[in-house]
Amino acid sequence: MIDLKNLTVEKTHRSFKNKEFTCKELVQEYLKVIREKNAQLNAYLEIYDDILNQADEAQKKFETGTATMLTGIPFAIKDNILFAGHKASAGSKILENYVAVYDSTVVKELKKQGAILIGRTNMDEFAMGSSTQTSAFGVTRNPYDISRVPGGSSGGSAVAVAGDMVLVALGTETCGSVRQPASFCGLVGLKPTYGAVSRNGIIAMGNSLDQVSPFGKNVRDVEIVFNALSKYDPMDSTSIKDRVSPDTQKPPFSSAFKIGVPWHLFEKGVDSEVMDNFKSSIEKLKNSGYKIIDIELPYSKYSLETYYIIMPAEVSTNLSRFDGIRYGFSDKGENLMEVYKKSRGKGFGKEARRRILLGTYVLSHGYYDAYYNKAIKVREKIKEEMLEAFKNVNFIATPTTPTSAFKLGEKLDDPVAMYLCDIFAAPANLTGIPALAIPSGKDKNGLPLSIQFMASHFCENSLFEIGKKFETLREK
Ligand code: GLN
Repeated sequence: MIDLKNLTVEKTHRSFKNKEFTCKELVQEYLKVIREKNAQLNAYLEIYDDILNQADEAQKKFETGTATMLTGIPFAIKDNILFAGHKASAGSKILENYVAVYDSTVVKELKKQGAILIGRTNMDEFAMGSSTQTSAFGVTRNPYDISRVPGGSSGGSAVAVAGDMVLVALGTETCGSVRQPASFCGLVGLKPTYGAVSRNGIIAMGNSLDQVSPFGKNVRDVEIVFNALSKYDPMDSTSIKDRVSPDTQKPPFSSAFKIGVPWHLFEKGVDSEVMDNFKSSIEKLKNSGYKIIDIELPYSKYSLETYYIIMPAEVSTNLSRFDGIRYGFSDKGENLMEVYKKSRGKGFGKEARRRILLGTYVLSHGYYDAYYNKAIKVREKIKEEMLEAFKNVNFIATPTTPTSAFKLGEKLDDPVAMYLCDIFAAPANLTGIPALAIPSGKDKNGLPLSIQFMASHFCENSLFEIGKKFETLREK
């Protein structure tokens, strides 16, 4: 029996090296748990059929001395990450039987290092949602309480890790889709700097916002995965080559660092237990020497509105390629227009159709200037104000989400209530800065709560440092 609950990437690596267990034995343990739990939780849409071969290949790397930290490490990947020869449906009926014809850059890297790709995980359709209930392939349940959502859109990846059905997982973020499910499932989730990790081979939602983002049970695991995947990729035109990090210009990490808290953003809509937990986390940081500074972010107040204009505009453009002809699901029609209409009408779910309509509207003649162009300007203002804030503070802290995990079915008929889940996530995606979500305790129902730290572009190392420090403070 391997103690899966307390396993970390480094522990696993050591155990492989010390021959305490083999790559295959570990995978078999995870498969056992998957067989027990997945039917109920629906974290995985598919378990790949070649994982035992992958485990043999990984084992060989240990025997020939070519193993890296990720060799033999079991990964789950979100259903919008391409893995050649395997299905990738982005949680949508329109791509139900689509088989990837090439590897995404992140998968290529994982394969190169001998990581074991266990399976693809459930998600909100095309990553649109905060609860993994808009998937065409059923809802995913929260392992802390199966009557509740795991968060979304990368809910399947979160539940796979939280349910000990895999060690680490990849999701994607456009606006909180890793941090929010990490928060609801008691995990650590990182949204990297935009341009840090390649988007090549990721089924796009909002190109100017999307980033592949890791989940882990602790900060160190997430750090290891991020470091392995963060590199310049010529296949992604938005990948950043010259990475200037203010991290390297700072003195060594010190607990005298300053944390800015935009208290004014939490005036409305934040659950009182979430707020109490956040205040007590800030208190712990203060008592251990961090300087807590009250900051004002007047434009960030409009992040959600800005996001819900820019994102649908990009979504409507991206999803236009699913026309019933080039990929996936196709319905018959008398003429071309009918084929388009029937294929898209039946292939896309309600939320995808809603966003296509919204996006088409904000981009249409006459509304483009009033909505899209204005949102682009506000986005710039938010970015300016964030960068200005980081001249005075090293981090900005907020609760990760305004509530803990809500019930299945809740908010489904109220899109605005669902969109409000993203309120603290949006600034990092809009401005491209990195953000780390870390468990910060539990509410009275035993549901996980979470704190988020944001830092300036390419300051992931600072985030990992404060994250590890917080993990020790949290227990006190
Ligand atoms: N909740 C966000 C939305 O519905 C999730 C987007 C994301 O990060 N993929 O747009």
